[in-house]
Amino acid sequence: MEILHVSAECYPVAKAGGLGDVVGALPKYQNQLGHIAKVVMPMYRTKFLYEHEFELVHKGSFGMGAYWFNYSIIKEKTNLLGFDLYLVDINGLLDREAVYGYGDDTERFTAFQIAVVDWVAKWNHHPDVVHVHDHHAGLVPFMMQHCFAYRHLSAIPTVLTIHNAQYQGWMDWDKSTYLPAWDSWAWGKLDWQNRINPLACAVKCVKKVTTVSQSYLEEMRHAANGLENLFEFERGKCTGILNGIDAAVWDPAIDTYIEPNFSKKDAAKGKLANKKFLCDLYNLDIEKPLFIFIGRLVHEKAADLLPQAIYDAVYHIEGKMNFLVLGSGDPSVEWQLENMKSQLVGYYNSKIGYNEKLSHQMYAGADFLLMPSRVEPCGLNQMYAMRYGTIPIVRNTGGLRDTVIDYGDPDGYGIRFNEASVGDITYSIYRALQVYNQPKLLKKMISTVMELDFSWETSAGKYIKLYVGLK
Ligand code: ADP
Repeated sequence: MEILHVSAECYPVAKAGGLGDVVGALPKYQNQLGHIAKVVMPMYRTKFLYEHEFELVHKGSFGMGAYWFNYSIIKEKTNLLGFDLYLVDINGLLDREAVYGYGDDTERFTAFQIAVVDWVAKWNHHPDVVHVHDHHAGLVPFMMQHCFAYRHLSAIPTVLTIHNAQYQGWMDWDKSTYLPAWDSWAWGKLDWQNRINPLACAVKCVKKVTTVSQSYLEEMRHAANGLENLFEFERGKCTGILNGIDAAVWDPAIDTYIEPNFSKKDAAKGKLANKKFLCDLYNLDIEKPLFIFIGRLVHEKAADLLPQAIYDAVYHIEGKMNFLVLGSGDPSVEWQLENMKSQLVGYYNSKIGYNEKLSHQMYAGADFLLMPSRVEPCGLNQMYAMRYGTIPIVRNTGGLRDTVIDYGDPDGYGIRFNEASVGDITYSIYRALQVYNQPKLLKKMISTVMELDFSWETSAGKYIKLYVGLK
């Protein structure tokens, strides 16, 4: 089966969050199952681009409203990632340093999608499935079905995976002229509450929708940033498939970012050495348990609660722990987290920004990972943490609920709480300290989490089964 994944991110080419991790891994595991999975994404100006060789495979051009763009499709030459990687180069529009965050992101991702469809329309065969990820690729199925120039692609089955329904790519109707000439009777497929909504449009157009955990799918019918009714209406085509983690990349036994490497049998020693590295670097006390947070500092992740929760924990639980935070996002949260450094010297430190290497070192050296997310479609951090023997403390939501069982429940190995509130977070930190002070229990929990199997093989197979059912 030939599958074309269309995405804005793909690790290690360009990653802003979990979407990148998934699109960097899923196609590799689909190929290992004997299929041909390919990825097409925008050509950003990232390190990966300059460090690898590419060949030109296609050149084309298209109009978008009043603009005319030339595009090129380039392909990574060595199949280094375990799948064919294609990049869409649109000079001046896509070739920026960051993935998102520009005033013309609507134009950038619309142009990217038109170029992808235009390119696929020129293939001398059809892929068996076009699999689009999140709203940045959400207009692709519509264009394949309703744009006159591309209607010969309309029989190709399309699948949408929603990694995060909070972001939908809304655009005003005046931008409808960006799309290549389309059947105006189909306007209702583009529209959601008087705006063009690429995510909603994809849900309406594709044959199957998947979300990255079963719990998130259920939650979306009640909380999907305005799309609740749509998910309720379309629930027959929706399935939850839990993300895996790329066990070849996230393995403490071979991870080149950490020193020393370790596995389950020498976890205590290995984790302690990694913790020492972090504590020395960030002026923390190795004798105390180390709690970490890694992620986007946004409302969705409840990052706004962190400063108060950390203060409260340090003051009310008598400074019996250390905190280290890595992330970037909301400037006011960034500012508070920076500011706290001088007030909680020796108990807390933070690194504002994106740092892949440090994230691995933190998963390896920490005792506990905090994830108080208000919304968490799947969440990868908790799975990485567990692979590295770090106990997750998570809110009872979405994929966190599907992957972490509280140690108070049968077969439990983590800590779960219900409310995204300072009180619930600090109480969970208190519970974590009780675990930390029972070395036997802690050891057992570390050994259990390191054994859990979150590998991609199972999930990759579920996607294949889903595609087969489309035929
Ligand atoms: P989301 O996609 O919502 O941001 P996920 O838990 O699915 O959350 O995935 C987050 C991914 O991004 C993980 O690989 C995590 O390690 C990584 N990550 C997030 N923020 C940072 C950061 N500041 N530095 C390094 N890695 C980060």
